[in-house]
Amino acid sequence: MKIHEYQAKQLLKQYGVPVPQGQVASNPDEVREVAKTLGKRVVIKGQVHSGGRGKAGAVKIANDANEAEAIGKDLLGKTLFFAQANSDLKINRLLVEEAVDIDKEIYVAVTQDRVRQRDVLIVSTQGGMDIEEVAHNNPADIARLYIDPLLGLPDYACRQVLFDAKFDKALIGKTIPVLKALYAAYVGTDATLAEINPLVITKDGAVIAGDAKWDIDENALFRHPEFTVFKDESETDPIEKEAHRRGIQYVRLEGGDIGIIGNGAGLVMTTMDEVKRAGGSPADFLDIGGGAKAEAVASSLEIVLSDPNVKGVLFNIFGGITRGDEVAKGIIEGTKNLDIKVPIVIRLAGTRAAEGAELLKTTNLIPADTMQAAAEKIVELAYAK
Ligand code: GDP
Ligand code: MN
Repeated sequence: MKIHEYQAKQLLKQYGVPVPQGQVASNPDEVREVAKTLGKRVVIKGQVHSGGRGKAGAVKIANDANEAEAIGKDLLGKTLFFAQANSDLKINRLLVEEAVDIDKEIYVAVTQDRVRQRDVLIVSTQGGMDIEEVAHNNPADIARLYIDPLLGLPDYACRQVLFDAKFDKALIGKTIPVLKALYAAYVGTDATLAEINPLVITKDGAVIAGDAKWDIDENALFRHPEFTVFKDESETDPIEKEAHRRGIQYVRLEGGDIGIIGNGAGLVMTTMDEVKRAGGSPADFLDIGGGAKAEAVASSLEIVLSDPNVKGVLFNIFGGITRGDEVAKGIIEGTKNLDIKVPIVIRLAGTRAAEGAELLKTTNLIPADTMQAAAEKIVELAYAK
């Protein structure tokens, strides 16, 4: 779950990372009020779930409350194109903060490195708006530290990565506590990305977070009821929203048209690959989970079919502890009251698959013996007309 900069900065502050003074505002009057209270030059930043806001024109400086209000009027309600998110996003809120006097812009982030199977701390002295170009053109300017989960992030490890990044030696002492607090915040909030870019070194030598980008692992949200308020419904896909309300593991895929339902995340992903290989384009990821009772089947199908792009659905069920006949009963029961206008192919394998197939003969569902055959069948049928 992505959260906004102003929310991420609240988290950073709780963990001891210095952040500029500021407040979020949702109308021009509030923008003026915050600017007036701060009583100095302010930076005004559109709160959308994308980086690259500076380049998109969503970050502005105002010298006083009047200018701030004018910028508020201009930016609020405006839709801009954000290259990083590759989409148009509407600005509903602005973060109004005291502007900081930037001497240097540092990039720091903690995220997961799947290949190393470690969290990684990334530091570059070439922070700011062009970090992607640095990564591309001057990869040596980006230092990485793979974090041992048992050791965490001790001072010497921080010193090493700062040294590798050719960090100004005079500033190392001040920066170590910031790195440690960032890592503590990353772990403590179950984040998958905690990024500060720029971490600003001010003209008077202070270290302060100029920006923050945060992604929280949705699978850990159950233990963070305090993050419920961070959910920005206006930025969530409506079908995903409904699926999550129903407790269904569903991810909508832009541009796809073959609905996918399976039991087990790995099986669902493999099914998506097979559909792709057969020339189709998966419309979603949906893991129906174990058991696949009638209610879950009906609910899942309803979700998948509520995507108007879906031209066909592929059910891929592997019976292990889940028995094929149980699933078949679930499907029969669950599809009984649905008005289904697209072909549905089902592949049922494993425990009691034969019994399940026998039961499905009474339905319009089209059986397939293997996952590959099922993928080919649904692609053929869905794109037939
Ligand atoms: P992003 O483009 O979405 O990453 O948004 P940032 O919050 O990082 O802002 C983009 C750029 O605006 C930064 O890299 C800075 O150069 C500049 N900027 C942001 N805040 C301030 C500030 O308080 N003072 C000054 N002078 N520049 C700022
Ligand atoms: Mn930034």
